[in-house]
Amino acid sequence: MQTLNRRDLLRWGACLAAGAGLSPWYGDVFAKGLDQLASHRVKVLWLTAMSCSGCSVSFLNTQDPGPVEVLTELISLVYHPVLSAIQGSDVGKMINELTSKGGYCLIVEGAVPVGIPMACQFEGKPLTDVLPEIIRNARAVIATGTCAAFGGIPSAEGNCTGAVSIREFMEQQGLTVSERLVNCPGCPTHPQSLLGTVAYLIAKGYPPVNPKLLTPDMYYQHSVHDECPRFHYWEKEVFAEKFGDDGCLFKLGCLGPLSHTHCPRSQWNGGANWCIRAGAPCTACTSENFAKSRNFPFYRKSEKYYAVNYTEADRKGVS
Ligand code: SF4
Ligand code: SF4
Repeated sequence: MQTLNRRDLLRWGACLAAGAGLSPWYGDVFAKGLDQLASHRVKVLWLTAMSCSGCSVSFLNTQDPGPVEVLTELISLVYHPVLSAIQGSDVGKMINELTSKGGYCLIVEGAVPVGIPMACQFEGKPLTDVLPEIIRNARAVIATGTCAAFGGIPSAEGNCTGAVSIREFMEQQGLTVSERLVNCPGCPTHPQSLLGTVAYLIAKGYPPVNPKLLTPDMYYQHSVHDECPRFHYWEKEVFAEKFGDDGCLFKLGCLGPLSHTHCPRSQWNGGANWCIRAGAPCTACTSENFAKSRNFPFYRKSEKYYAVNYTEADRKGVS
């Protein structure tokens, strides 16, 4: 039962928008979406494939609105493998019922192990068997985290599971991707972008996305480099030579020009801090190549600029 009034919804919508540096227009859109979610007109189903559950933990670290408000007042989360008390065959019955009605918003965390289907099971059946029907009947599908969005660590070079992203899985199954799947990458996904994307989808339909990556522009249009507080050092070519130094972190391995997300605006844990402010180079955790190759450069201390294949477009954060 919805306990929120219009003023509460507008407040949470405005908080969500302001937290990511979005205009007040988004606040009104988010409030409209939250209204439908809070009144159970649209239900949310969360399923997990191959993942570390980091995106679930990140979602629970949401602030303004906090986890209690999100879970008990704002969204009708009918099932989450870690948070829900419902177990066993009751889960299957509940999901069958939901699937037959359709119209729900599906969030999937993790990559799908198509090479070893039994590596990821649901009610004793491979997830690869049950997922297509659940996806087909969903109103919208959100791939949360870089594993779900792009394959991420489970599909890294040398893996034996044949893990693929939700997009690849949908394409393999002949399921419609266009105007249905939204990718919200990140390792983990920021809770604001996940909740905001769900609210936008419900209120306005499919959002403007990057045509190649299917990431919503409102959160993933600009690179970390574009909005980095150390960008002035980059321009002046003042580089940190060791951890703890002032300066741009590029020589310590920063991949900010290759990562598109809203970290510089939102920061993490309610704005407490974030990678670059803490002096840690960005590892481009939202990029499609994150951790894919064996020699992915998490940190490349002392390497030279040319060690990373930056283009001029990358440098400007527009690629
Ligand atoms: S390279 Fe990294 S630290 Fe330097 S300006 Fe870009 S994002 Fe900031
Ligand atoms: S700053 Fe970079 S590595 Fe850190 S969370 Fe943001 S995108 Fe990921």
